[in-house]
Amino acid sequence: MKKKPVIFCDFDGTVTVSDNIIAIMKQFAPKEWIVIKDDILAQRISIRHGVAQLFRLLPSSQKEEIIEYILQKMRIRKGFKEFVSWTEEKGIPFWIVSGGIDFFVYPTLEGVVKPEKIYCNHSDFTGERIEIIWPYTCDHLCQNDCGCCKVTILRQFDSTQIHRIVIGDSITDLQAAKMADQVFARDFLIEKCEEQKIPYFPFETFHDIRFVLEQEEVCQLI
Ligand SMILES: [Mg+2]
Ligand SMILES: [Zn+2]
Repeated sequence: MKKKPVIFCDFDGTVTVSDNIIAIMKQFAPKEWIVIKDDILAQRISIRHGVAQLFRLLPSSQKEEIIEYILQKMRIRKGFKEFVSWTEEKGIPFWIVSGGIDFFVYPTLEGVVKPEKIYCNHSDFTGERIEIIWPYTCDHLCQNDCGCCKVTILRQFDSTQIHRIVIGDSITDLQAAKMADQVFARDFLIEKCEEQKIPYFPFETFHDIRFVLEQEEVCQLI
């Protein structure tokens, strides 16, 4: 029996044109954020630890200002909405698996991706500084302290039954890309895939991804 395709799609820098956490930090954080960001990208500190530290740089009192800023600044990558509709037509399950935060992920995807199809981190503005809440931390098989652990999520799907398609752009997608049956990469994830010899398709728009999938047998099965 052929495997059924299931798509796991990153949010920041993948659905959106640029990374929203970076955009928030650039606008609101004191300059210490740059050292933390570099430590995350160089894998000197875990993503969960780094992102928690980044948001602790920001006072909760700025909540409304931050949300308004990011929702206004955010740009969606070309072809995204059409791509999600296409997956629905084809009956391909489509999940958002994001290291982003609820306050910008949910409003952006409203009316396009149902909330129950979204994995992302949550936020708490009740303290003096912004705290990130981690509903999807690593299982015992992942030692990376991911925050939102994409491999733990992928493992909840039966790999003998499904063809796992991972779409992403950065270091946060690397472990999932290693595990995937098929990878669509852009930006830093391309570098990492090259370095670690993970096969991938490069993409710039969601039309590129659909084009590849439509060519493939995997889609003829649905
Ligand atoms: Mg990303
Ligand atoms: Zn993990």
